[in-house]
Amino acid sequence: MQREQIVFVGTSDLSGHFRGKSFAAAELPARLERGVGLAPTNMFLSAFGPIQMTPFGTLGEVFLIPDPATRVSVAFDGSATEYFLLGDIVTLEGAPWEYCPRQVLRRSLDRLKAETGLKLLAAFEQEFIYSGVAAHPAQPYELDAYRRQGLFGETLLAALRQAGVVPDSFLSEFGPQQFEVTVAPAVGLRAADDAVITRELAQAVAFRMGQRVSFSPLPEPSAASNGTHIHWSFLDEDDQPVLYDEERPWNLSALGSQFVAGILHHLPALCAVTAPSLPSYYRLRPNRWAPVQSDVGVLDRGTALRICPAVGSDASQRARQFNVEFRVADATASPYLALAMVVQAGLDGIRHRWTIDSQKRQPLPDSLENALQLLQSSESAAQWLGAEVLAAYVRFKRAEIKSLENFDESEICRRYAEVY
Ligand code: GLU
Ligand code: MG
Repeated sequence: MQREQIVFVGTSDLSGHFRGKSFAAAELPARLERGVGLAPTNMFLSAFGPIQMTPFGTLGEVFLIPDPATRVSVAFDGSATEYFLLGDIVTLEGAPWEYCPRQVLRRSLDRLKAETGLKLLAAFEQEFIYSGVAAHPAQPYELDAYRRQGLFGETLLAALRQAGVVPDSFLSEFGPQQFEVTVAPAVGLRAADDAVITRELAQAVAFRMGQRVSFSPLPEPSAASNGTHIHWSFLDEDDQPVLYDEERPWNLSALGSQFVAGILHHLPALCAVTAPSLPSYYRLRPNRWAPVQSDVGVLDRGTALRICPAVGSDASQRARQFNVEFRVADATASPYLALAMVVQAGLDGIRHRWTIDSQKRQPLPDSLENALQLLQSSESAAQWLGAEVLAAYVRFKRAEIKSLENFDESEICRRYAEVY
């Protein structure tokens, strides 16, 4: 029998899960116009499945419109083609829906462009556990650890390239079964799209091999933590890099250091969006090579913001490479929302011309609830997200905390590792 191809359109929602709907691939041209209908409550599905809190109940309709530029079609021998697109959610009137994470990021990037003329260039570096490696003591960065993961890495890189995402590196990380995949920098929205596609394709490849991957920030209390690090820099209107300035401290341009200052200023509050789960805060503890305070350091992997190296004898090449790494995110965050917060906080630094020295180091929140309290009282966050969306987000996350209140850290880690 001839099978009929199905295509899926989705978005990375408030819980960072990729959800949407599928339909006959032959209908795609029509669906590019009309999209698929969703209940607004779909955005409020919890990471664990059940609806724990929703401002909409059973009411309403919004439309998820596939973006043809994000088409992913990767064939696997002996199984269905991995065929999906990412999309934007609009209202019945066709206007951007304020709860759509991709629209939140688009709006943030548009503001950056309007106020500074800058485009953001970003690359996501994602750590995860791959189950298809036999138990073995950790082999950090060893060739043998790479060897023992078999064909997973090569298949993932091929799948990414076919999907139009340029792979940068795939390596064996510090913990047993822990790996990291990084893709090339991309401009604006595309960088977050690439992060969503990378997570899905890692899961897709693992599935074809009878395995799974987990990006959960801490799969079990004694494991090595999984971060999602976001590297960023800027391009001006002529696509020239504008983060690098050899005349200034740390080679950081004036705009770049104001942007860093803005992120440092808002960091404790924006953790609730970039590190938005219970195990996120088990990760942000000392001795994990993950940050614990709002700080910046040159070549320091213990800081929240790391100024990354730029090497080579050619200054223009160094300027192109130069970037700063935001280390306070993990894969329980939607890449759209995480990047949007970084952009908005940094832009606020440019707006106020804050200096790095004027920002005092603050400890990062030690729990999701403490982070939510800071987010809830941030007037800036209310502007960035909209007061209604912010309030709903905080209630959504509090419902998640409540649903886990009877479990210890080990059980909580186990449950998140099942769903991220
Ligand atoms: N695994 C660490 C984290 O949770 C990062 C290690 C590294 O520097 O790559 O962020
Ligand atoms: Mg790493």
